[in-house]
Amino acid sequence: MSSVSSQTFACSRCGERYQAPVYSFIDAIANPALTDCVLTGELFVRECPRCGCRELIQTPVVYRDAACLVCLADRKLSVEGLDVACARLVGDVGSLIEKVKIFHAGLEDGAIELCKFVTRSELGKEVSLKFLRTEGADNEIIFTYPEAGQMQMLAVGFNVYEDCRGIIGRNPAMQESLAGLVKVDQEWVEQFIS
Ligand SMILES: [Zn+2]
Repeated sequence: MSSVSSQTFACSRCGERYQAPVYSFIDAIANPALTDCVLTGELFVRECPRCGCRELIQTPVVYRDAACLVCLADRKLSVEGLDVACARLVGDVGSLIEKVKIFHAGLEDGAIELCKFVTRSELGKEVSLKFLRTEGADNEIIFTYPEAGQMQMLAVGFNVYEDCRGIIGRNPAMQESLAGLVKVDQEWVEQFIS
């Protein structure tokens, strides 16, 4: 069952103090409707009842559904007894949402991170890519990245993803490092690429 408590916040715009629900465990197996609230980000937003200012709630939380388990934490949380094939640590809400999107699209996040690395290299610039969705009959991989204050979209062929998946499949060290509750991000890829 999900674990949620009411916490007091102060609005950063008008100073109003108010209570908002804060999840420490989001159980989308017990309550599948929570997945949508996570994907839209709604679950991580509090709204001031006086001025309507919306702010991000970024506290440690464990998300679980049938496809994955994702922990937003600055350290390894104990999640004993949660038997899942795929468990990930993330450092922020945006990354938590991205992981849920990746696993719900039936993709592997290690291959997606390698795809991002390849795409960044081809672009020739250091951009922070986030997986958005797959699109069309060819399952193109759609990434977003911020540039000049705007969100840009970029499509990458599914064959690039499959190539990346193949590279990881042939690399035992990469495969081993994907097991368990681990962080799979840009740093994860870069430790294998020199
Ligand atoms: Zn306010």
